[in-house]
Amino acid sequence: MKKLKLETLCVQGGYRPENGQSRLFPIVQSSTFKYDTSEEMAKLFDMEKSGYFYSRIQNPTCDNVAAKICELEGGSAAILTSSGQTATFFSLFNICGCGDHVIVSSMIYGGTYNLFNMTMRRMGIDFTFLDPDCSEEELDKAFRPNTKAVFGESISNPALVVLDIEKFAKAAHKHGVPLIVDNSFPTPLNCRPFEWGADIVVHSTSKYMDGHDATIGGCVIDSGHFDWDRYSEKYPSLTTPDPSYHGVIYTKQFGREGAYITKMTVQIMRDLGAVQSPFNAYILNLGLESLAVRLERHCSNAMKVACFLKEHDKIEWVNYPGLPDNPYSALVKKYMPDATCGVISFGVKGGRTGAEEFMKHLNISMICTHAADAHSIILQPASSTHRQLNDEELLAAGVSSDMIRICVGIENVEDIIDDIEQALAFI
Ligand SMILES: *Cc1c(COP(=O)(O)O)cnc(C)c1O
Repeated sequence: MKKLKLETLCVQGGYRPENGQSRLFPIVQSSTFKYDTSEEMAKLFDMEKSGYFYSRIQNPTCDNVAAKICELEGGSAAILTSSGQTATFFSLFNICGCGDHVIVSSMIYGGTYNLFNMTMRRMGIDFTFLDPDCSEEELDKAFRPNTKAVFGESISNPALVVLDIEKFAKAAHKHGVPLIVDNSFPTPLNCRPFEWGADIVVHSTSKYMDGHDATIGGCVIDSGHFDWDRYSEKYPSLTTPDPSYHGVIYTKQFGREGAYITKMTVQIMRDLGAVQSPFNAYILNLGLESLAVRLERHCSNAMKVACFLKEHDKIEWVNYPGLPDNPYSALVKKYMPDATCGVISFGVKGGRTGAEEFMKHLNISMICTHAADAHSIILQPASSTHRQLNDEELLAAGVSSDMIRICVGIENVEDIIDDIEQALAFI
């Protein structure tokens, strides 16, 4: 079949019903699956045959939605997780452990920063946070013999910094480690990290993919490009026998395309159980079906709101990657030429107090700690998502105390702008 375009994959990817089958993949709300003989079930446990036996490890509804996201990213295998946080954690924990080191762009989601800097440090994994705009030399110098991965966000939340994916991928590959990119904000519709050398992509599907504030979820997608066997001494858990499966070697049995996600499924998910429920996966799939049309509207609305804010005399500064005078416009042109995302950050006159006053008078945009919903959502990161960070850490994460982040929804843009305009009048 001819390679289908992204808009078509949003609707038809993953699951293609056969004669008489349901148009939507059903919710297989069952924790377990029945077999006729113990021998047949044993084959599943030995991974001699593929099949479902327990939903903590795999579930058909989840797999079909993961397959759709996998096709959208152009990957080789994918797995759904209970949240974006889990996706990020699993993407690293699948290939690192105590004594290892990871290089991370300092412009990342606050939750990811805490996960790395607090929780994963307690597991003995060390992190170096680097300004994503660093030179190739600075990036090069950050590598250590125990570095196992490089991590960044294609568009960072909430600083809206655009990652130079190719620069990070080249440095990672020079040192024999994979680049992992969180692609939640642009989604595969607007940015395709694998085409620029990223090896693994993670998503918070709670954002644009679900798009309706209905479910929390995540996804890890493997490009199938990284040659684990070539760097076998760094990734023995993929390239040497796993005693918990009678000595299976993941790269040998599942190849470069399947090793990473298979191991994550049968080992990490088996042991930690952070699955997405089949019901949530079903809802997520409905979101994915309309992702292309929604995202187009999010982006065109955001562009109009950004232009309005830029002209307004109560506005101190506007940061929207889609604006032609944005400092990242060259990277935007390269990595996301069609559109970026619906998220804008800006500062109002009067700093923190001005921001607080403005926030009190909004009627259309809702105050929520979330992003990328059909409904316009607004937030002051310093007083919410990023409130655990001190001033220095805030600055390093690209957040100022007067920053307001608006995730422009798919409502009529005139209503969104009118609402902002009347609230600004109170400053
Ligand atoms: C929200 C978000 C996450 C975390 O995802 P959850 O689904 O909330 O766990 C990770 N990365 C980015 C860029 C996000 O915006």
